[in-house]
Amino acid sequence: SSRIENYMGFPTGISGADLVWRGQVQAMKFGTRFAMPLRVEALEKLEDGSFCATFGSGQRVRARAVVIATGVQYRRLPIDRLAQFEGAGIYYAATENEARFCRKGEAIVIGGGNSAGQAAMFLSRVAARVRVLVRGDSLAASMSSYLSTRLEADPAITIEYRARVSAVHGTDKLAAVTILRDGTEQTVDACAMFVMVGAVPNTGWLTGLVRLDDKGFVLTGADVDAASPYATSCPGVFAVGDVRAGSTKRVASSVGEGSVVISHVWGHLHDG
Ligand SMILES: Cc1cc2nc3c(=O)[nH]c(=O)nc-3n(C[C@H](O)[C@H](O)[C@H](O)COP(=O)(O)OP(=O)(O)OC[C@H]3O[C@@H](n4cnc5c(N)ncnc54)[C@H](O)[C@@H]3O)c2cc1C
Repeated sequence: SSRIENYMGFPTGISGADLVWRGQVQAMKFGTRFAMPLRVEALEKLEDGSFCATFGSGQRVRARAVVIATGVQYRRLPIDRLAQFEGAGIYYAATENEARFCRKGEAIVIGGGNSAGQAAMFLSRVAARVRVLVRGDSLAASMSSYLSTRLEADPAITIEYRARVSAVHGTDKLAAVTILRDGTEQTVDACAMFVMVGAVPNTGWLTGLVRLDDKGFVLTGADVDAASPYATSCPGVFAVGDVRAGSTKRVASSVGEGSVVISHVWGHLHDG
């Protein structure tokens, strides 16, 4: 992510790349070895119970335990200058942190699913107006009816069907968006735009080794009758962070899960 604003210890925010770089230097101090830039293409279980990961380079590495932390790919929109405003008016999550930029302004929420609906309800408490842009003709198939009913009843929220953003405007931060609806373009002021069109977990490389939910996120803990909350359906393979089904998709929680899982890995290696 281009800017993480609410991770403890970085009061002026930090980019995802910078945070990872600092973490890497720190981990090296403790003896962690990195193999990068490499993509894992496949993971298999060997006859002796260990695991073998195959990199895109063809190189193979073996381990007795694996922690999956490959995150998700947020669906982005094919709009010019989108990247320029990511973290500066364009967001992929609606929390207190992003909501403070919407106070008394107009917020745009893109998407017709439950995450878009929840974001709109949440933002309507602080924004003067929330405009929800939906690609289709109705919310019936994509959003829970209790949520769409609440959206329709909220005077601060308007839902625009068959609508999409065709352009974004601003200098150093987002100031306005152009909405294309039924062939007509309209440019409106916007303090923030929330892209809630889904995220795809990076789990294609797991090749059926662990159980996934219907969206491809890794199931762990009680969902697979495992004792450890981060254990997958395959003993010795753990999952943390965004890629894990049901996780809170934030930096602090992902880092926290990553630190907690290590004691479970340790337990697996030494007791199990
Ligand atoms: C624009 C944006 C802004 C955000 N802002 C905030 C914020 O302000 N505060 C906040 O708390 N959260 C924010 N988030 C969410 C936050 O970035 C995630 O919750 C967090 O990064 C999840 O950490 P993770 O380690 O699970 O996954 P990631 O950080 O996504 O890391 C996964 C890593 O695995 C790598 N990978 C994937 N597949 C493979 C493979 N096959 N082989 C090898 N490597 C692979 C990826 O390249 C990546 O480096 C934001 C997200 C976005 C997109």
